[in-house]
Amino acid sequence: MTDSTAHHTQPTATPSDHGSGVSDCPATANSETKQRWLRRGVAGLMVLSALVLALVWSKHGPTRPQQQRGETTLGMPTVVKTDAQWRRLLTEEQFHILRESGTERPFANRYHDHEAEGIYTCVACGNRLFSSSAKFDSGTGWPSFHAPLNAKAVRQTMEPGLWQRTEVACSRCGGHLGHVFDDGPPPTGLRYCMNSAALQFVATSSSK
Ligand SMILES: [Zn+2]
Repeated sequence: MTDSTAHHTQPTATPSDHGSGVSDCPATANSETKQRWLRRGVAGLMVLSALVLALVWSKHGPTRPQQQRGETTLGMPTVVKTDAQWRRLLTEEQFHILRESGTERPFANRYHDHEAEGIYTCVACGNRLFSSSAKFDSGTGWPSFHAPLNAKAVRQTMEPGLWQRTEVACSRCGGHLGHVFDDGPPPTGLRYCMNSAALQFVATSSSK
């Protein structure tokens, strides 16, 4: 019985002793462990961000060369020339259409009823733009296509103003080619209305 009472009294004495004598110890120990955890947390965050970076790199890294391999026009450098340089290279009509967003007369142009098989390139820079297989008779008097050779061959920009037309330009030299409208035939339902003077037809080897 005496043992049990001694046991009971001892625990009540120890906390009071501990509390008054070494009250700073647990506090400093706590802040030290906090700092240690903080350091570990920062280190962990750095490792995590490095992992995320590695993941992003592995996801986007390999796709770039694949895209460049797939689309030939992507790898081409952008052709940039001054107006004076373009004037020396182009005829007056070509310059007016390509560099001043002009429009040639309907029917009185080179390719509106041209039916040979081949590729239509940009007359200014040689960028491959349209295939004869996408050409159709729109009845407008301008060469019309339902799609460009690939999406990267042309650059499409909404024109400001009341007309709300979408301008089509060569993605390589920025030359104005024509406009695209949504009243075309299947499979795209689009009508790329081009200026013959902006194009150069190149026959495919089989039709030469
Ligand atoms: Zn061009």
